[in-house]
Amino acid sequence: MKIYNTLTRKKEEFVPIQEGKVSIYVCGPTVYNYIHIGNARPMIVFDTVRRYFEYKGYEVNYVSNFTDVDDKIIKEANEEGCSAKEIADRYIAECKKDMEGLNVRPATKHPQATNEIQGMIDMISNLIDKGYAYNSNGTVYYKTRKFVGYGKLSKKNIDDLEAGHREIKVDGENDKADPLDFVLWKPKKEGEPYWESPWSQGRPGWHIECSVMAKRYLGETIDIHAGGEDLIFPHHENEIAQSEAANGADFAHYWMHNGFLNIDNKKMSKSLGNFFTVRDISEKFDLQVLRFFMLSAQYRSPINFSAELMQAAKNGLERILTAVDNLKDLSDKARDKELSQEEKDNLVVAKQFQDKYDAAMDDDFNTADAEAVIFELVKLANTTANVDSSKKYISEIKGIIQKLSDVLGIITERKEEILDEDIENLINERQKARKNKDFSRADEIRDELLAKGIMLKDTREGVKWQRI
Ligand code: AMP
Ligand code: ZN
Repeated sequence: MKIYNTLTRKKEEFVPIQEGKVSIYVCGPTVYNYIHIGNARPMIVFDTVRRYFEYKGYEVNYVSNFTDVDDKIIKEANEEGCSAKEIADRYIAECKKDMEGLNVRPATKHPQATNEIQGMIDMISNLIDKGYAYNSNGTVYYKTRKFVGYGKLSKKNIDDLEAGHREIKVDGENDKADPLDFVLWKPKKEGEPYWESPWSQGRPGWHIECSVMAKRYLGETIDIHAGGEDLIFPHHENEIAQSEAANGADFAHYWMHNGFLNIDNKKMSKSLGNFFTVRDISEKFDLQVLRFFMLSAQYRSPINFSAELMQAAKNGLERILTAVDNLKDLSDKARDKELSQEEKDNLVVAKQFQDKYDAAMDDDFNTADAEAVIFELVKLANTTANVDSSKKYISEIKGIIQKLSDVLGIITERKEEILDEDIENLINERQKARKNKDFSRADEIRDELLAKGIMLKDTREGVKWQRI
């Protein structure tokens, strides 16, 4: 299996640290709003990487964090007049709902920065002890020039560098010994959340969070560290400097970065305002369509979002679902009999398609080619399975299509469709149950609707519902 490693700028054969096991750390979102579909790209891509490793028989330890303390979260909390924790908790819960709709499996562990402060204080103290960091009036900075390998991931020459703009700006920036130094700990400002530390009441910088969470849940050296390509510099470069100086060990063997999701060839981002949230899209499309669209490009290429491409993805997905539906129908009717010679030959062809799929995925997870192979299998099924086929043939070919779709996180079972009218009827029944204080029935109805992808919201104007 070959992976393009940003560290070496080459496709390399994947060799795990421990045979049969893979450890993966993926930088997760900062939770101050609903996630947008650009944020969904790394979630979908690396969930697919995880699924493919599992298909290949690896045991995967997959860790992805939530950044739950940050200037943007505090700003949102101040605007809404609530605590930063309330904002973070709300958007973590919303993000998990979106992930479920996208069929992104929960990570083995989703650490949150605010639960890991002691680990950060320990690592920062260790860096100070080793001479890689210094305290300046309560702010702790990392001595960037002291780390010999600085720039090895982003291929930047230290002398050409300007300090990265994603680090937190602090009062007293002039206390830095060198403009390249970045923040590990910053003192609180009035009204901000804070933690006690040996240097000041304050909070950690963004980069140290990931170094600490990766170490705690995956160890000092991990197989794969991943995220969007905007994180290469300074975030991942700084993570390497922190972790390797603190631990005296390589941080990650393979660095994987997804390309941007663009709109009109510009990166989709909250700051540019050119974004759609996953929730917006869920009102127009089944989120499976978004997943299928996202995987129609190799993960390192940019992908342009447009209504036409989403429609094309919808049609493509529909072709697969229809084929599986037909195979199920045929399977109910088919007779138990031996495979005919022709069926055996067709299954050899199907197996060759599976090999082609594996080859595409082994080549740095080429999901675009993998989707194309699924279409070839669908065509084979559509042209060869019929009322005279044996049950075994139908089950085998259906099994291959479903297995390969599942590796891409594509669910081939159609969701049970529920009509607007039935939803309204159930909501009325729930209201009646609530009036009669039959809360268990009311909860049952809410859960039943949720299972069918319908979310209820109790508002002052009555009950509203939404397809998710
Ligand atoms: P953030 O919350 O901005 O730190 O982003 C969370 C993750 O989403 C990071 O891995 C980013 O690199 C990634 N990301 C943000 N915007 C995009 C985009 N337009 N296309 C692809 N990935 C993105
Ligand atoms: Zn990170």
